[in-house]
Amino acid sequence: MKYKAYSLHNYLTIPQIDKLDKQFIQDINVVGSVLPFKVNNYVIDELIDWDNFEDDPIFKLTFPQRGMLDEAHYKEMEASLSENTDKIYQKKVSNGIRLQLNPHPAGQQDYNVPEIDGVKLSGVQHKYRETLLFFPSAGQTCHSYCTFCFRWPQFVGMNELKFATKETELLVKYLENHHEVTDLLFTGGDPMIMSFKVFEKFIEPFLSDDNKTNIQTIRIGTKALGFWPYKFVTDKDADDFLRLFERLQERGINLAIMAHFSHPRELQTEVVKTAIKRIRKTGAQIRTQSPVLNHINNKADIWAEMLRTQVNHNLIPYYMFIPRDTGAQDYFSVPLIEALHIFRTAYKQVSGICRTVRGPSMSCFPGKVQVVGVSEINFQKVFVLRFLQGRDPNWVGRPFYAKYDPNAVWLDDLEPAFGDSFFFEEESVNGKKFSYQVS
Ligand SMILES: *Cc1c(COP(=O)(O)O)cnc(C)c1O
Ligand code: SF4
Repeated sequence: MKYKAYSLHNYLTIPQIDKLDKQFIQDINVVGSVLPFKVNNYVIDELIDWDNFEDDPIFKLTFPQRGMLDEAHYKEMEASLSENTDKIYQKKVSNGIRLQLNPHPAGQQDYNVPEIDGVKLSGVQHKYRETLLFFPSAGQTCHSYCTFCFRWPQFVGMNELKFATKETELLVKYLENHHEVTDLLFTGGDPMIMSFKVFEKFIEPFLSDDNKTNIQTIRIGTKALGFWPYKFVTDKDADDFLRLFERLQERGINLAIMAHFSHPRELQTEVVKTAIKRIRKTGAQIRTQSPVLNHINNKADIWAEMLRTQVNHNLIPYYMFIPRDTGAQDYFSVPLIEALHIFRTAYKQVSGICRTVRGPSMSCFPGKVQVVGVSEINFQKVFVLRFLQGRDPNWVGRPFYAKYDPNAVWLDDLEPAFGDSFFFEEESVNGKKFSYQVS
């Protein structure tokens, strides 16, 4: 299949669009001016059920919906579009709204960017000791956008190949000096949007005899299996990618494809099954993750089916996330107690083989916090929480307690059950005292 993408300026040419009434079209225009909108022909033709699109999870996952903006923001954006104002003014309005939607959650901009020789490595985050997160600039877009993700197109209009080489040089230099880093995690956007020629530049140094880094696992965070499995099957450089995956294994580097699947439907097409088989043949692992999302997958049965199908297809369930405090969080958010219920109800109806999934987990400023359960201590109902990952490695695994709150959707909503603060708020990071409630 040949890739074809639709965005705000051409979506009216989608063949199935006549199913949408005027109001839907208007909502796409208004909400899509603030939140990301791009959808491709595979998602439209193979994943969305157009006979029932109003309730379709993949439709809601990719097409902007009115409820994703609050009423005031909707009206403001709608007015600016209808008043025949110029594009610059409209951009100002949409950027203004975006800024109010916490576009850089979890202190990403200020706290996690490492330096080398006094130069900030933009595009790199080193938050957890063993794992470096890398955002190649050529991977800052995706095959389709998920409406829950706060990401507006940020493609850089420069010579990608040249830029990739420069980025790689700095990255490798940093890794040579930081042998505590064993895992390199490529993320984006979607790194699997890159052509082979560009992507190869990032991997070559780890295949070379001069490799002086301590990278033992390379992970690629990608939604390509969900939104464009042809990447590994019929795209013109599909075989080159698979060969590169093989070479990593031959070099003794473990390759883990961190695949995002939000709904079992994404695992049902023939082409995704073929793509999975082809990747697994190279020796690479495929691990899976998704947030639990209102309107999309907030049912235990959906998760149980998803976990079972994944394991049947030889995938390893990894994380269930709680949606980040950004973008259309109000539309997608699920109270912590509900996320916990979904997790446990799904977890207990699948076999131990599927229970490699961990969660529900919040990626917040201090670390990845798992909601373990609800308990009662000294006649007080509490949430039991623990760090799956921490800014300070000593925090990992340490349980802590918050007052039970049935409405809480994020760590910021919680209060310590005992004392005035959580244990990690007392401690400092890199010599700086911090509160996790940074905006
Ligand atoms: C989740 C995450 C990682 C990877 O953590 P693992 O627990 O090793 O999967 C690395 N860096 C950041 C910033 C993360 O959010
Ligand atoms: S594929 Fe990933 S990065 Fe891209 S829009 Fe979806 S969640 Fe965001």
